[in-house]
Parts: sequence; C-alpha cells; structure tokens
Amino acid sequence: MAPGLLGRLAGALLRRPVTLWYDPRYRLPLSGVEGQVGMEPRRADFAAWWLTSSGAVPPGRVRAPSRIPLEELARVHTPRLLESLGRPEGLAGIFGADPGELSTDDLLDTIRLACGGTLEAAREALRTGQPGLNLLGGFHHAAPDAAGGFCPVNDVAVAVAALRAEGFGRRVLVLDLDAHPPDGLAACLRQDPKVFVGSLSGSDWGPLEGVDETVLPEGCGDDTYLGALEALLRRAPYPALAFVIAGGDVLAGDKLGKLGLSLRGARRRDLIVARWLDGVPQVWLPGGGYSRESWRVLAGAGMALALRTLRAIPRGYDPLSTRFSGISAQLSHAELGDTGELTGEDIEEALGLRPARQRLLLGFYTASGLELAMHRYGVFQHLARLGYRDFRVSFDMGGAGERLRLSGTSDGQQHVLVEAVLEKRRCLGRRCSTSTG
Ligand SMILES: [Zn+2]
Repeated sequence: MAPGLLGRLAGALLRRPVTLWYDPRYRLPLSGVEGQVGMEPRRADFAAWWLTSSGAVPPGRVRAPSRIPLEELARVHTPRLLESLGRPEGLAGIFGADPGELSTDDLLDTIRLACGGTLEAAREALRTGQPGLNLLGGFHHAAPDAAGGFCPVNDVAVAVAALRAEGFGRRVLVLDLDAHPPDGLAACLRQDPKVFVGSLSGSDWGPLEGVDETVLPEGCGDDTYLGALEALLRRAPYPALAFVIAGGDVLAGDKLGKLGLSLRGARRRDLIVARWLDGVPQVWLPGGGYSRESWRVLAGAGMALALRTLRAIPRGYDPLSTRFSGISAQLSHAELGDTGELTGEDIEEALGLRPARQRLLLGFYTASGLELAMHRYGVFQHLARLGYRDFRVSFDMGGAGERLRLSGTSDGQQHVLVEAVLEKRRCLGRRCSTSTG
C-alpha cells in the first residue's frame, strides 16, 4: 500500500525539517550473517524509501555521507585496532562472519560511510539546529582498542572527538536506547567530563563507569520501559548536542534483545525523546535490530522526528515490492523482451553455423532484457559488493518449468548465483501470478 496523496499533503503541511543521511551502501555486504542473526539487510533502504515516499522527509533533505577520514577514527581508536580492520579475520570476528566470504574493502566502506554520516549529521545539526537521522550507526560496543558486536569503530565517540577538536566545548548527551549496554561508549567517552551517557538496557553486563544505566527486567514491555525512560530524562542534563541511539532491538521477538516492546511502544519512546529534545541539535541513529520489523522502528523514529505522530506504518506495506513495482513500471517491453528483430546470432543459428539455443524466457524475455532489469533493480550492484563480476543471465528448459540462471565470476571462477525455475500460468480472479520460482 503506497502512501496516498492526502497523507503526503498532510505530511508536507505538518512536518518538521529532518535531514536524512543515507547511502545504498549502508546495506552490509555480508550474505551469510544477515539470516543468522535475524538482521533485515535492507533496514536503511526500507526506512529511506518509506520516509521519502510517505512525504515525512522530502527527497531534497536526503544527504549522501562521505567516508570518514582515517585520521578522524584515529582520534579515538588505537593503531592496533584500525590496522586489524584491514584484515579479513579482524573484521570477520566482529560480524561473526566467515573471513573467506568477506569483502574487506566494501565492508569498511560501509562502516566509514556510516561514521561519516554521524559526524556530518552532528556538524549540520549544530549549524542549523535541526535534527538529523543517520540510517546506519550507533556502533556503541566499539572501545578504543577493542571492537565487537557488529561495531568495528565507535561513530558517536569519533564524532564527539572530531567536534571537540574543532572547538565545540559544550555539553553532549548520549541517550543509548539500544537494548544492550553501551560498553564501548563508556570506554571511549569516560575522559570527557562534559558528556553524559544515559542508557536503558535489557541485559546486565555489570557496572559501566560513567554511564547512567538502568537495566530492565526481561520482556518488560512498553509501560515499564517508558516509565524508566521518563525517569532517565528527569536525571539527564539539558545538552547543547544530543545523540540518540534509537535501537531497533527493543522489540518483542528480537533475536538478541530481551526487552519486549511493541512497535507502538518504540514509537512512544521516540516521541517522548523527540519532544524532550525539541530545539536541541541532535543526531539519531539506529543501533541494533535483529528482527524483520526493525526497519519499522527506524522509519518510525523518522516519523516521530518529522511528524510527531503515533500513526503506524501500514501492516500491508511491503517496501521491496513497492520499490520494485515502481522500477518495473519504468522498464519498457522493448527493453525486456523480443522485438522481433533478427540478430547476427539468429542468422547463424538459422544457417546451422551455431547450435540452436532457447532465445526467450517464458516466450518473451531476452537474456539481455533480464540483465538490464537486474541492473535497474540493483541486483548486480549488490552482488558486485559481495565480490562477483561479469554477470550473465542464461536460461533453458529445467524439468518442471523454464530455468533461469544468473552467474558471475569471483577469483577467476564462475559461480551460479541465482537459479530459479519458472512457469507461466494463466490465472482467474484478482490474485494472479504469472510465474513461480
Ligand atoms: Zn543492541
């Protein structure tokens, strides 16, 4: 269900200015880890698509971050830690990934883009007084000399250190509302007397020096959590700059978080904080999130900031199919299918100079048309970040139907990356699919 015209109009009239920091490369180039820990690999994409298509954030307020320079990371992190991130085994341990499947440069690019986004969002918030939402970041487990828990470096601490070096000396509040304790933040920021770190967690990892930490009971639910949040805000100093880690792992059903909030409870959390921080330069970050719903928490944080609303994102809204339908509508028949024109290969086949091949999939799609479609959908771009090149679509008859294969090369070897068996069906009624795979 796409946001309607009335919704977009109301959004335009009521919204507050929020800057969104986002890059499609925020999707981690890790194929194996996503499924194991329940991460939604496209969390940032989904939140960006929803927030811009619903009118909560106009496309003109979406900013592309730059990779943070290494010298900014070096203000917080030791040479030993930074050097370890250049090795596949170093990064693999942080993400629980197989070093063999890791594309180190691409993964580091993602992390450095996110850190760049957090720092640029903070600078812009200080300049304009308006909030920023960076769709990747809140790497709160990274300490100066130790990384872990999906956090290679600590973007918030790096941003604070950079701002301090640029002369910003006023009070900073870090509200860590991820479901896990901010051990890395505590280690990075304990030297700075003008930083207050307040945290609500669902796991007890022992005392954290310099952190106002409340550990809540497992499965505590919305009301207990929100009561503790109100109490934390009563203790917190009013800051000149705030970072909010609006963790998506507070939801019930999260694979790693134990708190048990509802989606509505997470939105109420964000509304309370957004109202409390009204007028304060602030940067919001997603932190963790290990369920398919975590993108709704992130998009919800944007709605709380921009619209101050409890309105839920419709249950039936499927960001991927909405996005792909839009791209599909822009692909013409001539681009995808057989135009009836003879190619040199057709003539060679007709003359028996080359073996006959299946020319069309489902009687319509050409291989080059399918390659173009996969490029437009962003499939090739993502596979390239996973280390594959030279993509090729081919098809043949495959038992139950027609078989489509997408192959690519990696380290000089060819791999089948996608294989789908499809058949064309004529359906009656509204729910009609033309193919199965
Ligand atoms: Zn967490």
